[in-house]
Amino acid sequence: MIDTKTIVAKFGGSSLASASQFEKVRAIVQSDPARRFVVASAPGKRFPEDEKVTDLLQQCYDAAICGRPFEPALARVRDRFGEIVSALGLDFPLEREIGALREHLSGIPRQSYILSRGEYLNSRILADYLGYTFVDPEWCVCFDDAGRLDAPVTRRTIHAALRPLPNAVVAGFYGADMTGQIHTFSRGGSDVTGSLVAAAIGADLYENWTDVSGLLAADPHIVKAPKTVKYVSYRELRTLSYMGASVLHTDAVLPVADMSIPINIRNTDRPGDAGTTIVRKLPKGETKYPIIGVAGRVGMSVIQVEKVMVSDESGFTAVMLDILKKRRIPFEQCLTGIDTVTVVMRSDVLAPCKQDLFAEIRQTLNPDYLGLTENLSMIAVIGERGTESCDANVRVLQALARVGMPINTINQGAGKLNLLIGVPEERYEEAIRAIYATIEEGE
Ligand code: ASP
Repeated sequence: MIDTKTIVAKFGGSSLASASQFEKVRAIVQSDPARRFVVASAPGKRFPEDEKVTDLLQQCYDAAICGRPFEPALARVRDRFGEIVSALGLDFPLEREIGALREHLSGIPRQSYILSRGEYLNSRILADYLGYTFVDPEWCVCFDDAGRLDAPVTRRTIHAALRPLPNAVVAGFYGADMTGQIHTFSRGGSDVTGSLVAAAIGADLYENWTDVSGLLAADPHIVKAPKTVKYVSYRELRTLSYMGASVLHTDAVLPVADMSIPINIRNTDRPGDAGTTIVRKLPKGETKYPIIGVAGRVGMSVIQVEKVMVSDESGFTAVMLDILKKRRIPFEQCLTGIDTVTVVMRSDVLAPCKQDLFAEIRQTLNPDYLGLTENLSMIAVIGERGTESCDANVRVLQALARVGMPINTINQGAGKLNLLIGVPEERYEEAIRAIYATIEEGE
C-alpha cells in the first residue's frame, strides 16, 4: 500500500545545517519510497550561537548596499556550504556559484535574489546527494508584479514540472515573477513551498521535518516537559499559532488544508517519534479528554461600556465597534452582555490612542460606566471536540478555582470548545499550569 502513496517531505534549516544532518535526511528519505518530493531550506543553526545561512546572506546584502565589504560574510557562506560538500564527497561547483553571487553583490544587489541563494545552493547539493532531480522554483513558484504569490498559476506550473519526474528536490522559500525577478516568502517560508508542492501534486501527506517532535500541549518555559499533541485540527492549529506557538509558517496551512492533505510535523533527530499530525477532522476516539492544549498571551486590556437598558437599544454594540473601525483599532474579542459591551484588545495597540478613544466613547455612547482593566493575560483552552464531553469546561474552571484564580473575562462561541479566559497577567503562568494539569489528568 505504501508505494502507491506520495509524500512531500520538507526539511527545515536545522535538518540540513551540516553534513551529518544531510546523512540523517538521506536515511529518512530512503526509508520510504513514497518520499518522492523533497523541499529544502537553507542551512540553519548547528548550535545555539551559530548563524543561519539566510542571516549571513542578509549580512552580505546589507554590506553591499551600503558600500561596505561583503567578503567576510560571503566567506562564511562559502565555508558553510564548503564543509557540507567536502564531508559528503560531492563534486559540486561551489566556487563558480559563490563567484556568481559575488558578481551580483558587486553590481546592484537585489535582496530577494541574495536571500534565495541559501535555498538554491542547499537544494542543489541535496539533489546531488540523493540522486534526485533539482527543480528550481524560479520556474514554477509564480509571483505577480506586486510580489504576491499567484496561487492558481503556481499550482498548475508545479504540477507540470513535477508530474514527469519520479522524484525531485525543490528549493524552498522563493519563486519569481513573470519578468524573472526573484521573490521570497517571509522568513520561514520554505514551509509554504512544501505546502504548495504537496497541494499541486495532490500528495497523500505533507511531512514537515524540523528539530522538535511536534506541537507541545503547553509552553515548555511554563510547564515542565509538556506532552506532544498527537493530532490537531487545522482550526486548532490556527488558535495555537495566533497565541504564539510557532512550529509552522502560518501561510503553510491553507494550500494543503484546501485539499485536506494532513501535515505531519516530525523530528529529523528522532525519526522514530510519530510527531504531530495536523488534519481537517480529528480521528474519532483518539482522546478521552477533548482539550489538546493551552496557550495564551500577556499584555491585554479590557474596555467595559455599560448603559442601562442598552440591550433594548439596537445598534449600541455596532456604534462601539464602528468607533474602533474608524480609528483602525483592531480588537481581539467583543463580548456582549445585558446592558454591557466588553472589548478585549492588546495594550500596546490601545496605549497611543487611549485618551482620544475614551473621549469619543463618552461623547458618542454616553455610557453610565466606562471602565478599563489593564495588565491582563488571555488564555486559550483549545480542543475542537469539546462538545463531545460535557465536563471539559467544568474541569478547566474547577482547576482555576482550586488555585483561587480571579477570572476577568470568559468567552466561548457556540458549539466548539475554544474557551478564552482573561486572568491577571501576574498569575498567567500559574493559570496555564493549572489548566495543563487537567490535560494530563484527562488522558
Ligand atoms: N531560509 C529561510 C529562513 O531562514 C526560509 C526557511 O528556512 O524556511 O527564514
